[in-house]
Amino acid sequence: MATYRAPVDDMMFLFEKLRDNSHYNSLEKYKEVNPDLAKDILEQAAKLTENLILPLAKAGDETPAKLENGVVRTPPGYKEAYKKFIEDGWVSLSCDPEYGGQGMPNTIKTFFDEMLSSASLSFKLYSELSIGAYNCIVHHGTDSIKKKFLPHMVKGTWSGTMCLTEPVCGTDLGLLKTKAAEQSDGTYKLTGQKIFITSGDHDLTENIIHLVLARTPDAPSGTKGISLFLVPKIQVKEDGSLGQRNGVSTNSIESKMGIRGSATCVLNFDGATGNMIGPKNKGLSSMFTMMNLERIVVGIQGLGLSEIAYQNALNYSKERKQGKSNSSKSNNGADLIIDHADIRRSLLNMKSIIEGERALSFWLAQQTEVSLHHKDSKIKEEASDVVSLMTPVVKSLFSDMGMEITSDAMQIFGGYGYTKDQGIEQLYRDNRITPIYEGTNSVQAIDLVFVLGLIALAYSWIKVLDISYKELSKNKKFFEDKIETANFFFNRVLPRIDSHYKSATSGSKYIMDFKFN
Ligand SMILES: Cc1cc2nc3c(=O)[nH]c(=O)nc-3n(C[C@H](O)[C@H](O)[C@H](O)COP(=O)(O)OP(=O)(O)OC[C@H]3O[C@@H](n4cnc5c(N)ncnc54)[C@H](O)[C@@H]3O)c2cc1C
Repeated sequence: MATYRAPVDDMMFLFEKLRDNSHYNSLEKYKEVNPDLAKDILEQAAKLTENLILPLAKAGDETPAKLENGVVRTPPGYKEAYKKFIEDGWVSLSCDPEYGGQGMPNTIKTFFDEMLSSASLSFKLYSELSIGAYNCIVHHGTDSIKKKFLPHMVKGTWSGTMCLTEPVCGTDLGLLKTKAAEQSDGTYKLTGQKIFITSGDHDLTENIIHLVLARTPDAPSGTKGISLFLVPKIQVKEDGSLGQRNGVSTNSIESKMGIRGSATCVLNFDGATGNMIGPKNKGLSSMFTMMNLERIVVGIQGLGLSEIAYQNALNYSKERKQGKSNSSKSNNGADLIIDHADIRRSLLNMKSIIEGERALSFWLAQQTEVSLHHKDSKIKEEASDVVSLMTPVVKSLFSDMGMEITSDAMQIFGGYGYTKDQGIEQLYRDNRITPIYEGTNSVQAIDLVFVLGLIALAYSWIKVLDISYKELSKNKKFFEDKIETANFFFNRVLPRIDSHYKSATSGSKYIMDFKFN
């Protein structure tokens, strides 16, 4: 099994030294979130992820979620861990205190998301979409919907899903067919099938709140005719108590390459009762509130899996002896593989990308908070533009880099990485979904995203370097490590932008003119 130590020191370095967005720092609601509180939360989160969540990764991979007599059963240990997870308030970390949440900012949540992704992405996904659904309802739900559903979701006793994909539509949601017919009481009956729904059903919570895209009978075709509906698995009475089972059932669950502990479901909606959320035919833009925040979280998943892959590769390279290195001083026996230039290059490549990504995501988390909560509408809008620009970058860059890093970690383990014992090949398999879901990376102008993404990492490294030189004498070991890692990044990673630039500007002639037989 892969081992894991949460990188609390690096996270605290960012929290203390790179919390430099004056608009973020002026937000009244986070005035009390000081470094002592952040450290306390991160240390508790580290204990949780290292001890309770990490073992679930192997359990979920070996004994995946399964469908039994119409009920989805999560892997061994998930129920007990989820109970503790919600009792200790981790689901509600960033939720509004008005609904029972702890009101922590995205800066802290981003770190926690990374830790959870490192420890077990499958387990994380059961609460991740709940927070996505929570965000969507907060922004677009009526007061009565918020009052009825949010406290339970924040508590974690009800979870949430996001139901977009259908057999004929994934990337192109304009093709979706699920129908919603209005009833005399103002509710809707939904009929259709949704596929690939993460946490579509499971045995961890009392109820599941599905956010479903569907069309009303009079809707225009394409994406302009899509509305958003809230459809509970079990209907909720006016007084908030649970009523009858709704017309939603699990047709099957997918057998997958990775994240096998996560239940990916085919859901049938057979006249299921739901409420419209947000304006009619504007469902896609309401859903985008959820999807845009979620896309950044998918990037963080790639970062988390990269971190655990790096940690294990580094440890292994300090134990495994093979061959003589160029600078070998030993007369007999082999050297540690960490002494070989190629292994060192590979480890530094991982480290410089991971630490750059962490700094970039921390910077983006500050911008996100400003875009959501700043009082000045102009400042809010500017931050919102930055977040919109950087969302596909973080999603695509971090998830694709996750593929590179988990693959390179496997390479460092040699045959022991390809076989199952060390848990390294699972990291590669688990990460493989991140470039696919929440909008495939391929549709995000990938060369352009990599131009921009690597430059954004360089920007983050410059900020880190600035602090490192200023504070070198205060913690020589820590800051020298940063300066040397940055040197590697600027000399060995950043030059990749040349080839991405050339590729992005080379035009499409040789692609579109080719005739496949
Ligand atoms: C494990 C898992 C969990 C998931 N969870 C959820 C969930 O919770 N909710 C949900 O609604 N969905 C979920 N999905 C679905 C996921 O978001 C889709 O698989 C994804 O959006 C791609 O859609 P598709 O599979 O239909 O591929 P398609 O859209 O058919 O794409 C096939 C290929 O064509 C490319 N392509 C498509 N259109 C274009 C274009 N315009 N330009 C260039 N290339 C293009 C794509 O990049 C891809 O390479 C999940 C999927 C998986 C596997």
